[in-house]
Order: sequence, then structure tokens, then C-alpha cells
Amino acid sequence: MNAGVYIHIPFCRSRCSYCDFATEMYQSEIAETYVDALCSEIHDWREIDKPATVDTIYFGGGTPSLLSTKQIKRSLGAVKDRFEVIDAPEISLEINPGDGGADPESRRATMRAWRSLGINRASFGAQTFDDRELKLLGRTHDSADVRKTFALLRDARFANINLDLIAGLPGQTMAGWKRNLDDALKLRPEHLSLYLLDVHEGTPLADQINRGMRPKPDDDLAAEMYATMIDQMCAAGYEHYEISNFCLPGFESRHNTKYWVGSPYYGFGNSAHSYDGARQRWANERDAAKYVEMIEQGDSAIVDRTILSDEETRSESIFLGLRLMKGIDLQTYESRFGKNLREEYNGELDRLRTAGLIEIEGELLKLTTRGALLSNEVFAALA
Ligand code: SF4
Repeated sequence: MNAGVYIHIPFCRSRCSYCDFATEMYQSEIAETYVDALCSEIHDWREIDKPATVDTIYFGGGTPSLLSTKQIKRSLGAVKDRFEVIDAPEISLEINPGDGGADPESRRATMRAWRSLGINRASFGAQTFDDRELKLLGRTHDSADVRKTFALLRDARFANINLDLIAGLPGQTMAGWKRNLDDALKLRPEHLSLYLLDVHEGTPLADQINRGMRPKPDDDLAAEMYATMIDQMCAAGYEHYEISNFCLPGFESRHNTKYWVGSPYYGFGNSAHSYDGARQRWANERDAAKYVEMIEQGDSAIVDRTILSDEETRSESIFLGLRLMKGIDLQTYESRFGKNLREEYNGELDRLRTAGLIEIEGELLKLTTRGALLSNEVFAALA
């Protein structure tokens, strides 16, 4: 199995009201020091004697598009020096609408420079096309920026673009959500990641909701939005291939699919996670400044390491595999683990099937639409 490389870039220009990621305010000198640390972490990486060949590289964050082209080039160079990378890997860059330069011409030039570095997939957080909702989320862009950014990316020959949208925002109506989907579909991106809003305690949005300044998210309405989104996306020719992800045929995120099928991935940067594709998972220090300090002192940035038991490996293969809408192949499961999943979970499978959360078609066990919405309940039953 080929591996993916994940590179975490923790900087953002401002903090969105719902965000609980490991991010920092962008400052150019700090970004340069961070990229130095990142490149030395990649250079000195010795976690696996014979790492798998790499066929995907993903710059996530944070806002990786805040890095200069030179910094992105250095990071990619470090990966190519350390790993065997196939000739035309999928290279994704998360960007923020409006990034890349002060005017359209310089933004277009930056995007062309990204393409010439081999970046062939752009992913950006539109979140919503309603400017009031964007303000509520504390986003710095407006819907016009999303459309402009999309057009500039196409001009720069990006033929694989992902948009993120969030459903279930406080005060969002079904009509508003459908308009968002229509607006996104008009752009015809190759990939859409559609999330239900998760309100994390400790974020400004959670605080506003707790103090009654914003309505509480309505779970029933969010469930209807989820079902509507599946209908609308499938009617528009998109494949619902993962709980929250849709694509035009052939445009699944190759990198993210590695997380669900158990392929190895090697993460670099603060808070990055890694998996050897078999038994070992490990994670880096979450705080960016501490991460840089550890690397500068010649220490490893790994702060957590787990060796999975047989039981954990099996249960992970179920709850990660079930995220893919094509489901789990029961025969493959049996040949891998020497156990019959139907017999192991007989009672639970019956209960979940009666509740309309799963279905078994031949040798494939998969989530129904309702099961995808209530996936945590399914995963808990099969843990
Ligand atoms: S741009 Fe993304 S990572 Fe940065 S603060 Fe907003 S949600 Fe968080």
C-alpha cells in the first residue's frame, strides 16, 4: 500500500468563531522558523525503516496558502528528499478564499506558481454563500471572494477543486441551506465536503450560544439538511462516497481515503498524526511554539504513541471502513482477521438493521443514509 504525507501548517490570519484546531496567528518570521523546523523534522525522520512509497501529499491547517511559494517548495523538496514519491502524486493545498495576493493578477500568478510546484488539488473552505452566516462564523472572506477564488483557480488550470460547506449553522433555514448547495453546485467543483456544524466548548461560538446570543443548533433540522444534501448532490451527478464527502466520478480525495482504508500516512508539523498502516499510531506535540523548540533542540516532536492490540485493529477497521459508503467487504474482513463479522456481532447487526441504520448487500456491510447521519451510534454498537 502506498503512503500519504500530511504537512500541518498552523497559521491563520484570524480565528474563526467555531474553530478548535491547533492554529496560531500568522507572522512571517514565525512561519519561516516553523518551515525550518518542519523541513528538519522531515529530513531526520526515522520512524520506519522502510517507509512505503508516497503517492499523496496534503498541506492542511490552519491555512497553508499563507506560506510563500518558496516555503511550500522547500517543504515539498524535503518530502521528496526523504521519501520515494511517485511521479505524479496527488498534492493538495488547503487555501482560504482571498489568499494568494492583494489583487487578482498577483493571486493568479501565485496560483500558477502552486501548479508549477506540482500542486494539483485545491481545497477551500467556502463554508456558506450567505454573507451574514460568514460573519457569524468569523470568516474574513465573503461569498464574492469564493466565486472569484474559484474562477482564478480554474484560470490557473486547477482541474481538481474541493469546497467545504457547513450545514446546521445557528439560525440557518432549510431554504438557506438549499440555496447554499445550489450556489456550490453552480461552480461544479470536482469535490465537496459537507459537514454538520459541531459546536466545540471553549470556542467563541459555543460561548455565544451558551449565553443565548445565538440560537442552539437544531438537531432535527440538521438531520433534514443532511438528507436533502444527499438527494441534491446525487441528483447533480455527485457520488456520495464517504459520510461527509461527495465527488464527481474519479475525484475521490486519494489522500483522505487513506485514513478510512487503513493505508499508512506520515504526518509532519505540530499536532500531526501518523499511522504505519499496521499497528502503530503516533502524534506530534500540539503547540506550534513547543513543537519548533523540540525540533530545534534535536528532540523528537512525538508526544504520544499507541501500539494497537488485535482488538483495536479490528474495531478501527470497522468504524473507519464504514465511513465509506461502499461499506466493508465481509469476506476481506474474515480473511484479514480470521473472524466472521456476522457471527461476532449478530445481535447488534440485527438491531442496527431493524433500526434502519445499516444494510447488508451480499458480502457488503454498509451504512444507510440514516446510519450515516447517526454513524456514532453504529460505531459504538460495533466497537
Ligand atoms: S481558517 Fe480554518 S483553521 Fe483557521 S481559524 Fe478558521 S476554521 Fe480554524
